[in-house]
Amino acid sequence: MSDCLFCRIIASEIPASIVYETDLVLAFRDINPVAPVHVLVIPKQHYTDIVELADADQALAAAVMGAIAEVARLEGVAETGFRASFNTGAGGGQTVFHAHAHVMGGRRLSLSLG
Ligand code: AMP
Ligand code: ZN
Repeated sequence: MSDCLFCRIIASEIPASIVYETDLVLAFRDINPVAPVHVLVIPKQHYTDIVELADADQALAAAVMGAIAEVARLEGVAETGFRASFNTGAGGGQTVFHAHAHVMGGRRLSLSLG
């Protein structure tokens, strides 16, 4: 998807601070972090959101889950605690329509949903 921001990051057309990468997934720092650790985990295959991803490719969805765990370990928050969230659809606060998990930690997070 040439007009998708995250596909352009995958294609190295837009720079990103990459934290972790496999054949299937890419993790990079959010450009506007809301916590000391704020990393986005995305499948390299374009899916609009987590629903489309889970319906189409459960193995890839599992790879995203595995990458969330790996990023949490690499960033030092697996033990202290972190939040992984998938904003889904405009009503869920999604602004970039390529499925992604926010991995946030490094400070105590409130239950606020914003
Ligand atoms: P969402 O609102 O859940 O769709 O999240 C999209 C996220 O992408 C936001 O937290 C943005 O700060 C982040 N973002 C937008 N552009 C970039 C970029 N070029 N590099 C890294 N993160 C970005
Ligand atoms: Zn995309």
